[in-house]
Amino acid sequence: MITVKRPKLSFWDQIYLGAIFRGMLITIRHALSNMLTQKGIITYEYPEVKKPIPENYRAEHRLMQRPDGTPRCTACMLCATACPADCIEIVATEHPDPRVEKYPAIYNINLLRCVYCSLCVEACPCDAIRMDTQKVEQAGYTREHFIVDKEYLMQNHPEGKSPYSIALY
Ligand code: SF4
Ligand code: SF4
Repeated sequence: MITVKRPKLSFWDQIYLGAIFRGMLITIRHALSNMLTQKGIITYEYPEVKKPIPENYRAEHRLMQRPDGTPRCTACMLCATACPADCIEIVATEHPDPRVEKYPAIYNINLLRCVYCSLCVEACPCDAIRMDTQKVEQAGYTREHFIVDKEYLMQNHPEGKSPYSIALY
């Protein structure tokens, strides 16, 4: 058996006041230093200052355009087939340009069901859909608000990023 000796506490140790004041002084010192210098603070003053998001972060989708402004999407359904959340709805229709077989008359994504896996982007054979918008804030009053349509996705290009894909057609 080992007997652990208790350290003898002084009068000030026993009333804890010294330790409480020391702790409060440290807290006040840190609070004042943070308020006056803001040195080393890693808190972002959201929403005025946004936290930087990595370039390859999987955020809200966007649909790429052809040089004439029409969607690059050929309504091949590969993204909808690959989507594990079954949240992409496409209605294909004939394209007026004979070089393009089809295009989506309707292209909806239900963002409430989306798991942001990016499989739709991987599956797309013609770089028609990307998730590089860096848009991560989503708020709305109804569920319908989160079902984004073709018109929204085709305008959902972040500042400084081209809406056109590198491939011409
Ligand atoms: S990111 Fe994933 S879940 Fe969302 S639409 Fe694309 S494939 Fe579906
Ligand atoms: S976005 Fe790409 S994979 Fe999806 S239907 Fe259009 S062309 Fe096909």
